[in-house]
Order: sequence, then C-alpha cells, then structure tokens
Amino acid sequence: MDYERIFRDAVTAVRVEGRYRVFCDIERQVGSFPRALRHTARGVRPIVIWCSNDYLGMGTRPFMVEAALAAVTQHGTGAGGTRNISGSNHLHVSLERELADLHGKEAALVFTSGYVANEAAISTVAKLLPDCIVFSDEKNHASMIAGIRSGGTSKRIFRHNDVAHLEQMLKETAPDRPKLIAFEGVYSMDGSFGKVREILDLAERHSAMTYLDEVHAVGMYGHRGGGIAQMLGEEHRVTVIQGTLAKAFGALGGYIAGSVALIDAVRSYAPGFIFTTSLPPAVTGAALASVRHLKASDAERIQHQERASAVRRRLAAAGIPVMDNPSHIVPVFVGDPVLCKQASDLLLEEHGIYIQPINYPTVPRGTERLRITPSPFHDDQLVDHLVTAMQSVWSNLSLKRAA
Ligand code: PLP
Repeated sequence: MDYERIFRDAVTAVRVEGRYRVFCDIERQVGSFPRALRHTARGVRPIVIWCSNDYLGMGTRPFMVEAALAAVTQHGTGAGGTRNISGSNHLHVSLERELADLHGKEAALVFTSGYVANEAAISTVAKLLPDCIVFSDEKNHASMIAGIRSGGTSKRIFRHNDVAHLEQMLKETAPDRPKLIAFEGVYSMDGSFGKVREILDLAERHSAMTYLDEVHAVGMYGHRGGGIAQMLGEEHRVTVIQGTLAKAFGALGGYIAGSVALIDAVRSYAPGFIFTTSLPPAVTGAALASVRHLKASDAERIQHQERASAVRRRLAAAGIPVMDNPSHIVPVFVGDPVLCKQASDLLLEEHGIYIQPINYPTVPRGTERLRITPSPFHDDQLVDHLVTAMQSVWSNLSLKRAA
C-alpha cells in the first residue's frame, strides 16, 4: 500500500480547489502589535497584522507578559498533572472564581482550549440528560458540532438565527424531553450577533437549557466584558456560557460558566477535562491578569469598537465590498477561493499587510472572503495604508466592488 501517495493525493485535491493553506511565519513583538516581522525564504520583512483574533492586542501587552513571567518565576513551567492528579493549582482556582464572577454564575471550569471546552461540555451535558435532543444553529463552530456528535444524542439543526425555525422544531418535540439549545453570541466569520434574547425567550417557553458560545464576544462586549448576553442584560437567563481565554483575553484556554451542579457534573464526567494536563502557570497567570483587567477597564472596548467602525466606513467609502454586520469583525467579500488567496498574497507581498484568506470549509464555497479584525492599536495611519492597499489589489485583480 502506497500510504504516502494517498496523503499527497488528498493534499493535491485541496490545492486544485485553490484552498491549500500556507502558514504565515510571523514573529510578534511585545509592545509593537499589530506590527510584526514575517520570516520568508528571502529574509525577514516587517508586516502589519490585520487578521488576529487577539482582538484587543492583549497578548503582547507588557503587563500581560509580566503576569506570565511572575507566574513562571513563582510556580515553574508545567502544571504538573491533570486537575485531579496534582495539577490543580491556586491560579486555576482563582481564574475559575474570576470567570464565574465575570458571567454572574455560581461556578466555572477551565479547559485547555475553547474547542475542548465545547466538545467536552456539550457531549457530557447531552449524555447526562436522558433522551436529550440538541438544537444547534447551522453556523455553529466545529467544536460545538464535535460536542454534539460525540454526545451521541438526537440533534436538530435550525437555520442560522432563524428563531421561527427553532420554535417550530421545539413545538414538534415532546414537552417533557430534555432539550439543549446551542448557539453563539457572535458568529465570527460573518460578524453577526446571535439572537440571544429571542432564543432565551423560546428556551424558557419550552423548558430548554441554553448553551451560549461567547468565544468571539468575551472581553469585548458587556460592561465587564462578559459578552453579548451581558451586553443585553440577559446573562442570568443563559444556562451555560462558554468562552475562550485565547482571543480577546490574549492567552490560551477555554471555559464554561454555569450552576454548581452542572459544573460539578462536567468536572466529574467529561473525558476532555479529566484526562489531560491542566494549563501551565504562565498561561493561567496571564489569563487571570487579562480577565481582571478587562472586567475593570472599558477603554479597550471603546477604542476597539471605534476602530472597527472606522475601518468599515473607510473601506466602504472606497468601494470595497464590506459585508455588513453589527460587530467588530470586518469581512470583505471576494467569492472565489483562488482570487481570495491572490488578494491576500498581493496584500502581503506588495504592501506588508497580513490578512489570511478565509475559504471552504470555514465558510461556504462561493463566499470566500478576507476577514479583517481591527484592534484598538490599528491607528489612522495604518487604516490609511490598508485602504490604499486594498484599492490597489482590487484594481489589480479586477475584483468586484461594492454596488
Ligand atoms: N468557538 C468558536 C465560535 C470559535 O470560533 C472557536 C475558535 O476559533 C472556538 C470555539 C475554539 O476556541 P479556542 O481557539 O480557544 O480553541
């Protein structure tokens, strides 16, 4: 059997479709985000990162680095074990208290990533509820889908943000059957907000539990950075709030927040929580500093929203087809995987602007896009540079402009 050929052929198929992914070898620098260095075969070049999920630029802020260093200096490099076998240290416990408080919940549980949090928590909750049925928004993230699959219970997929569709499905379900509705606060590829209030209303009417992924909202929305549910004053109505420490909080790890009973059950049953080493001190210390800081400081959130609107406005005025949405994410429509990659390459090679192309399977075929994520640190000069570069690339490739 020619195993190697099978792998090569699989990759060739991806290449033929124009969606072969190439890593951009970047070197982020403390204190200079979003400016960074890019390593190429021809040497090291300066670039500006315009597609980071370190949305608030927290990951390279000196106070975060100091928090990580202090944790390493005091507690060492590794956590020392799984949470149950010598790997629970005081930083984990403090972080979980801080996260429970952030969302106004009784308890929280930290996982090694947001992906793992979704997979482990959803599958465990679904398995524990006898004859559970999960209702899932069609645009839910791969990690939620993985959780639903490994939960092994029945599922129904409702059209994105289509509350009437969800309601119809709930009505078709036996009233006494356990129900879990899984959805997101911000859908990260379109930048749309989930219909949080409407779904919570429905959940209450049909006695369903709710599981809200706030990965692209925590740190950025709500008066303390608790996400979209907090911004709407509705977080007390959500059964489980899930988040990440890896995006706006600038560290790594994921978590869920909810009732003591639910958190204790997930802690006791979820293999993805039990059978893996806990987060190391540097990461936990930085995450803790970040959550504490963003709970108390609105400055980053205000500046972030202002910058995102400025970029959106400036690109739209220049005829670049920005996909409309109410969030901090600025997707620009291209609609073709090859052109999307070419646009990204030109921006990088000729203008030192890094925006990763977003292709299938992350978004549906024919909706390929450049996904721009302005941070509080993208100043006017950088925005001018971006707009000029995008105009030049759009002309160069004869890409469709906004109507
Ligand atoms: N949930 C959503 C909606 C995401 O977009 C992502 C990652 O991009 C995750 C969960 C996973 O989070 P993490 O990157 O912390 O694993």
